[in-house]
Amino acid sequence: MTITVQCPTCSAPVEWKAENTYRPFCCERCKLIDLGAWAAEEHAIPGNDLEDEMFSGDLPTRPH
Ligand SMILES: [Zn+2]
Repeated sequence: MTITVQCPTCSAPVEWKAENTYRPFCCERCKLIDLGAWAAEEHAIPGNDLEDEMFSGDLPTRPH
């Protein structure tokens, strides 16, 4: 019997099994997105390496 849950990020069906290290997310990307959103809301974690990796493709920070 397989338990299926919904990915909190993209609502895709996710099989809840030990091999799925990203559960309840469907993939690493969705997990990082969710964690990033959480960190952004909290504003409590300085120098977040996770965000740096997620947005590594963005332009360097510059004043607006
Ligand atoms: Zn997903």
